[in-house]
Amino acid sequence: MKRGLFGKKRLSKDYDGRCGNCHTPFDTPEDEYCRYCGTKRGEGEFLPYENFEGCIYGPPPVIRTHNCPNCSYSWETSRMIDHSRFCPRCGSPVNTVTADRA
Ligand SMILES: [Zn+2]
Ligand SMILES: [Zn+2]
Repeated sequence: MKRGLFGKKRLSKDYDGRCGNCHTPFDTPEDEYCRYCGTKRGEGEFLPYENFEGCIYGPPPVIRTHNCPNCSYSWETSRMIDHSRFCPRCGSPVNTVTADRA
C-alpha cells in the first residue's frame, strides 16, 4: 500500500534561509550565525527535517532581550519558545534578559 504526502510526518529539505543544523529560519538576511545553536549560515548537516508549522496555545508571550557582549548586537523577541543563545552576527554566546509583558 502506498502512501502519499499526507502521512504523519512531512520531511522537508528546504534549507532556504534556515540553519543547516537545527533547521530554524534565520530572522534577518544579515544573520551570519544561527542564534539557537551557533552554526554558521550555510554550514551543518542539512538532514531532512520535519516541517511543521502550527499554532501552539499557551501563556502569553514574554519579551526577551538578547545582548551580545562581543559585538554589542542586541535584539528582542516575543516568541513563546525562544532559546536564542548565540549572536547571529558574530556567533558569540549572548546574555538574555527575560521580562514579562506588562
Ligand atoms: Zn541552528
Ligand atoms: Zn555578536
